[in-house]
Amino acid sequence: MDTDVLVVGAGPAGSTVAGALAARGHSVLVAEEHPRVGLPVQCAGLVSQRVLSMAGSTSMVRTSVRGASVFGPSLGSVSFKAAEPRAFVLDRAALDVHLADDAARHGAEFRTSTRFDRWLRSEEGRHVVRLATRDGPPVEVRARLVIGADGVTSAVARAFRLRRPVEILPAFEAEFPRSPGDPETVEVYLGRTLSPGLFGWWIPDGQGGARVGVAVDADGTPARVYFDRLVAHLERRFQGRLSSPTAFLVSGIPIGLLPRTHGDGVLLVGDAAAQVKPLSGGGIFTGMRCAQLAADVAHAALQRGDVSARALEPYERAWRAELGEEFRRALYLRRVFQRLDDPELDRLIAALQGSELAGTIVAFGDIDFPTHVARQLLRQSPSLVRLLPKALGAWVAPAGGRVPELEFDRRK
Ligand SMILES: Cc1cc2nc3c(=O)[nH]c(=O)nc-3n(C[C@H](O)[C@H](O)[C@H](O)COP(=O)(O)OP(=O)(O)OC[C@H]3O[C@@H](n4cnc5c(N)ncnc54)[C@H](O)[C@@H]3O)c2cc1C
Repeated sequence: MDTDVLVVGAGPAGSTVAGALAARGHSVLVAEEHPRVGLPVQCAGLVSQRVLSMAGSTSMVRTSVRGASVFGPSLGSVSFKAAEPRAFVLDRAALDVHLADDAARHGAEFRTSTRFDRWLRSEEGRHVVRLATRDGPPVEVRARLVIGADGVTSAVARAFRLRRPVEILPAFEAEFPRSPGDPETVEVYLGRTLSPGLFGWWIPDGQGGARVGVAVDADGTPARVYFDRLVAHLERRFQGRLSSPTAFLVSGIPIGLLPRTHGDGVLLVGDAAAQVKPLSGGGIFTGMRCAQLAADVAHAALQRGDVSARALEPYERAWRAELGEEFRRALYLRRVFQRLDDPELDRLIAALQGSELAGTIVAFGDIDFPTHVARQLLRQSPSLVRLLPKALGAWVAPAGGRVPELEFDRRK
């Protein structure tokens, strides 16, 4: 079978790039290993307005949130609330189905229960790959361009030797059909006992329940252990009014910058390219935005009849120009936070409790670009800077230097 473009994976990144290329007249085949697009859900589904704008729909929104409470290791907290919605909780499966429907309407062909198995050879300027199907024999596909949108464990990245190990944070989440708590506020839990490495979360689901999860360092302790601790805390706090969990999910979040996300006749997008916000693990906005940029470059390359690595290189430059500096700053701040012990984190929460700083967070907070507000806070509060490494000073200075290199030892 011949196609201009083979997209592997029908998540938000895959369907976005597939739809954009099909709309411009290219033949596009999307291979998705699961029988149904969007399932199983592996996501908390919290996104910004930007995702809704890119999706061109609000039909998948379950509820909106306008506040956040951040809990330190000793469970002291700081809370912020904006006057208007700041983020949206989605039915994540519905987002994936919406994007796939859209792509199909533009002419992309979807094959579910179809897994990218391996690259076989190059032939007349096309990649020949093998797709495994659940019920039938394997299929050989000849594609001018292969786009790996196949998530954190990307087989495409491995097949085309584009992968270098990024950190993969184990994550564990469950849905609680009933939960007390503020339906307009997300809760974030920091500290080594509950969530070393990233954070735990409680997110209202808009139907009287909540999504509760943790993403943690891969330190040998299963994420489930931290999840159970967080749930035990919530049960105590909610005095038995939290229902039993349903719909568990176990997955991984890629953190880091891949050195290369393109090659001869191949591009990576989304989690496959580790295009994930390092401070939150969120990757829907970044993956979809990079998929749009990938489609622009791929379209031009296909039109010219040149999909060599050199012709696809503008993709690399485009996404790094938009998101690379934010990722670098966020990676640096993440390293800083990883070095803080629990008493230091508690002091940080206490320092944020000043109403002026809470006002800054409300004014500048942007879940897609969290380093903007971090920088603003550090500029505003010398007491915060004193809690953090001296090297941060260069970045925070009014002249606005680049963040220092990420050289220090993570083990502290
Ligand atoms: C617990 C958890 C909570 C999260 N919460 C949020 C959140 O609140 N907000 C947010 O923005 N992000 C969140 N994320 C991250 C977000 O889910 C991902 O960044 C996003 O799904 C990436 O989209 P994608 O299209 O790149 O990959 P995916 O959504 O992972 O899609 C990849 C697709 O490829 C398919 N596939 C994989 N291998 C193959 C193969 N060999 N052949 C064919 N198909 C294949 C998969 O079945 C899947 O459908 C969360 C992640 C986790 C783990």
